[in-house]
Amino acid sequence: MRKYLMILMAITAISFPSWSRDEKLNVKVLYTGTISPPEAETIKGGSWFKKFSMVHPAFFIQHPKGTFLFDTGLGHSIKTQVKDMVWWARSATKFIQKESAADQLKALGLKADRIILSHAHFDHSSGLIDFPSVPVEVLQEELDFLKTKNASPAIFPSLFNEQIVWQTYTLENKSYEGYAKSRDIFGDGSLILVGMPGHSPGSVGLFINLASGKRAFLVGDTVWNSDGITKGLPKFWISSKFADNKPDEVMTRILELQALQKKYPDLLIVPSHDAKAVGAFEEMMNRN
Ligand SMILES: [Zn+2]
Repeated sequence: MRKYLMILMAITAISFPSWSRDEKLNVKVLYTGTISPPEAETIKGGSWFKKFSMVHPAFFIQHPKGTFLFDTGLGHSIKTQVKDMVWWARSATKFIQKESAADQLKALGLKADRIILSHAHFDHSSGLIDFPSVPVEVLQEELDFLKTKNASPAIFPSLFNEQIVWQTYTLENKSYEGYAKSRDIFGDGSLILVGMPGHSPGSVGLFINLASGKRAFLVGDTVWNSDGITKGLPKFWISSKFADNKPDEVMTRILELQALQKKYPDLLIVPSHDAKAVGAFEEMMNRN
């Protein structure tokens, strides 16, 4: 009997990933790549001698009413896709590729009903082609942007194909935490999208409000380094030139985040690529 119980426990441990469950919400962070540039490349005034640890995550979100992936990270074909990138932007491709979000979800036996993009840059959208026929939700502004030729060096044709099912949505004129427009994804206040234009025209951030009262805010690429929010600083100027569509608007977004953090010191603000912030978010979800 004891042996039987032990076998059963072992099977249970294998079958269920080790993320603890909120009454309503689970989030699994899927790491699809890492890169460690000098800190100076990530923030104005950063050190050229200190490495800054960055990640390429996809966030799998499971709610009782459905599942979705917030960004895909680097997909299965990223090494081929980046051959499309202009030569001067190639330093962004010196990443270490990990298993794609699609493969990780498959291994975990999980399925995303849809994908919502924080924005369309390659390091967030490269995995779209690994999910044929899964609807991909973006703001109209972002869809127009990604279809514009030479819109950004971080967007290139090999990221997308005809199998991608684009679906646009609109943000309601309902202000949320100082953001003029928002979308309550499941209508229960747990997952709220807000518009954060600047890095790209249709960039969005995602508030995650847990039943326990803990809160996180996934802010895409408004900053790469959390210090940008604390210190109110933009990216390194060359990085901003490469990545930010409208640097002035990005600066406004950064100052909004700074004020938000002051108002809610416990709110965990998570820039997509800041390994420390993403790790803290993962821990918050695991402890929840
Ligand atoms: Zn990015």
